[in-house]
Amino acid sequence: MGISGEDHCVLCYQYKETCYHLFFECPVDAGCLQAIKEWLQWHAAATSPPRLIRWIGRAKMSKFKKQVLAASIAGLVYTLWRARNSKIWEETQVDIDRLIQQAKLTVKQRITLCWPKKVKDMDKEWFQKL
Ligand SMILES: [Zn+2]
Repeated sequence: MGISGEDHCVLCYQYKETCYHLFFECPVDAGCLQAIKEWLQWHAAATSPPRLIRWIGRAKMSKFKKQVLAASIAGLVYTLWRARNSKIWEETQVDIDRLIQQAKLTVKQRITLCWPKKVKDMDKEWFQKL
């Protein structure tokens, strides 16, 4: 039926695929996450999604910026999950630069569609420059 019997991660081919590895430990994810942090000018030392989510909870910044950061993590996780599935089911190649661009585009489009009623001018400018 075409069901994969492999138990290795199809993104990095280095480790056994577990949920934790796929979303939080995979070196491919780490590279993508670093690129997303740089894109957002997000200067947090944390390098895993759970720690970054905790960081957002404690950060002193506008609600809008927190929402964008959280949406970016969710968007990246979603993009990685889709890439993993495409690799397994459609045998597509994983292009990390393309994944990063896709995650950025998804986040920008979603936030633009769900734009909050009140956003400070400073935050609008920051978002528009992304
Ligand atoms: Zn991996």
